[in-house]
Amino acid sequence: MTGFGAGDNGLLWCERGEVVDLSGLGDVFAQPTLNPIMAEGRTAWEEAIAAARAHDGPRVSKPEAHLPFEVADYVDFYSSLEHATNLGRMFRPDQEPLLPNWRWLPVAYHGRAGSVVVSGTDVARPRGQRKAPDEAEPAFGPSRRLDFELELGFVVGVPTELGEVVPVDAFADHVFGVVLVNDWSARDIQAWEYVPLGPNLGKSFQTSVSEWVTPLALLEEARVEAPPQDPPPLDHLAGGRDWGLDVALEVELNGEPLSRGNARTLYWTFPQQLAHATSNGARLRTGDLMASGTISGTEPGSEGSMIELFRGERFLEDGDEVVLRGRAVNGVELGEVRGRVVPPL
Ligand code: MN
Repeated sequence: MTGFGAGDNGLLWCERGEVVDLSGLGDVFAQPTLNPIMAEGRTAWEEAIAAARAHDGPRVSKPEAHLPFEVADYVDFYSSLEHATNLGRMFRPDQEPLLPNWRWLPVAYHGRAGSVVVSGTDVARPRGQRKAPDEAEPAFGPSRRLDFELELGFVVGVPTELGEVVPVDAFADHVFGVVLVNDWSARDIQAWEYVPLGPNLGKSFQTSVSEWVTPLALLEEARVEAPPQDPPPLDHLAGGRDWGLDVALEVELNGEPLSRGNARTLYWTFPQQLAHATSNGARLRTGDLMASGTISGTEPGSEGSMIELFRGERFLEDGDEVVLRGRAVNGVELGEVRGRVVPPL
């Protein structure tokens, strides 16, 4: 893993398996979360990385995982063409898989910031209202179709004022770094509730993120051209195509490899997502988390969720443990997001 985290005394730096306590480096490093340093901007971030790498502070052995930043708002996009197509086919079998807006804007829903937890936190099977197509009425009870979603997310550092937009080329001035995200999803609750306003309780029970935030600056050498877009986006979303990220991703279920993908396949890039999210003047706050949406590839075995991998015939059982991992092409490790399913609370 390479990145900043939060520990008992303040911030931590992790690189090549070694964790260093940064709390001796000054006030901004002796804080319980990354938010104060994230708010400072690019120059401060570059200095912090250099200082962390040079710091001869105490080594920390196996620190207890803390959420590295206080989550302000949480937005989850839906930016993988393959995932959106696979899900469209399953949720709306009698229609075109992609709805008419999908290629014109990065579709998203607003999640629940308060339900974002750090890697290692168990996920309790949620209860909710669900109705299978062949049932006359809905019933309330534990989800029978609990799933994971393999995602990459970015964390906003520098906030904006109400009314300010962040064009695609200003992305790196506002975004501090990236995390791995598991957007746990109850497919039965989701399928019944989502029309017409999108996912709500089928997603909001819990979202897990990695323990380390990898600074954007360390992914510079992992940037690649994103896949072509057809039709070309409108002017306010044009650009940002050199922000594909060559980050290899994998999912492990109970210790066995289950799926492999790559974030470079995403149709909408992170700068386009941020430009879209601010295009109406909505304010950014330090700690805003925006996730890519499930990342699925074209090859069998590259799907980023169980519903796609098993065509709706297998979901998570109590006791199952899911681990997501990411590694950028330049060797920067994003660490992991780990979570075990436990029975309803
Ligand atoms: Mn998602």
